[in-house]
Amino acid sequence: MRYEESELRAIIGNFIIEGELAKIILYGDGLINQTYFVETAGESSPDYILQNKNTNIFKDIPGMMNNIQRVTAHLKAKVKQAGGDPEREAMTVIESKSGEPFYKDEQGNFWTLYLFISDTQTYESADTPEDAYAGGKGIGKFQRMLADMEGELTDILPGFHNMRYRFQQWDAVLAKDPVGRKKELSAEINWIESRRAEMMDFWKLVESGEIPIRVTHNDTKINNILFDQKGEVLCVIDLDTVLSSTVLNDFGDAIRSYTNTGLEDDPDLSKVGMDMRIFEGFTKGYLSEARAFLTESEKHYLAFSAKFITYEQVLRFLMDYIDGDNYYRVNSEDHNLVRTRAQYQLLLSIEAQMDAMNAIVKESCSTI
Ligand code: ADP
Ligand code: MG
Ligand code: MG
Repeated sequence: MRYEESELRAIIGNFIIEGELAKIILYGDGLINQTYFVETAGESSPDYILQNKNTNIFKDIPGMMNNIQRVTAHLKAKVKQAGGDPEREAMTVIESKSGEPFYKDEQGNFWTLYLFISDTQTYESADTPEDAYAGGKGIGKFQRMLADMEGELTDILPGFHNMRYRFQQWDAVLAKDPVGRKKELSAEINWIESRRAEMMDFWKLVESGEIPIRVTHNDTKINNILFDQKGEVLCVIDLDTVLSSTVLNDFGDAIRSYTNTGLEDDPDLSKVGMDMRIFEGFTKGYLSEARAFLTESEKHYLAFSAKFITYEQVLRFLMDYIDGDNYYRVNSEDHNLVRTRAQYQLLLSIEAQMDAMNAIVKESCSTI
């Protein structure tokens, strides 16, 4: 849905902003929400980021925004303690005139407004070990600042990265085999089943509390980190998916996406694999911040988490293929199967490099 400038002005009129509205332009290339840059006249008033939230993906925007307020309040307190600028080093939610952290319009669409953080740099992808280091440091710092936040967040994405729930879905889809695809897939199904016990053994440690529940970001792409002009991590943005879970999910998912030398759906499997130099860069950056708070169990399973999350992705693509392509958007009949095979190739590459990954984790935990 495209909005006219006059409609957007009316929406902003429901928030308390400083200064006089100058212009509103479509902004950035986020894939989930529609984002606008809201400029006010003159130098003395701040600019803003307006978002039309994606309610197909997010069913509980009030819950989401309540989580974000708790997280940003905690971050701001930490930034102040360290003598930093809480309006640049943490996101600032602007409340609506009725005092809510969002505005719901007559059509039921949800809108949010944040202070715009100016004079920053962003990267669209991490192509070098140095970029990966910066991205790892960003996520590690974010997690470190939130490591002592008390109380769990509202679970706005039930089942997300929950392996017990994934296997329940998996078993149900296999039992149903709704489009008759199962018979062709014995090798692929065995990829999942042969590792099931190992994955559940890990997940039981999360369920028992051996691996602690903390604040996690869940969208660790490098374009969700703002860097200052010197290239230092300034602020992690895009907090829509903050959840209470294991921080290993963030690490594992970042490794899955940062280090892949091919595409997530690469039809050419010879291109797919984990780039050890990128793994090393990300891990060193991450642990430069995170080793201060991670427990021994978390450190022990850090490299494993890359395998865990990549496995989960193989399972989810294959499950969706068997289910008849209901979840992921596909551009060919076998797209989900192509994705399954490409992510499985990555999984094999990660498994083959596990000893070297563990050695890097160990080394990065001990260097001062
Ligand atoms: P999506 O969930 O669609 O990825 P984001 O919240 O990441 O949406 O916002 C899209 C883009 O807008 C970001 O990549 C960033 O460039 C910019 N952006 C978002 N919030 C801010 C902010 N508070 N200050 C500056 N830029 C921002
Ligand atoms: Mg984003
Ligand atoms: Mg997002």
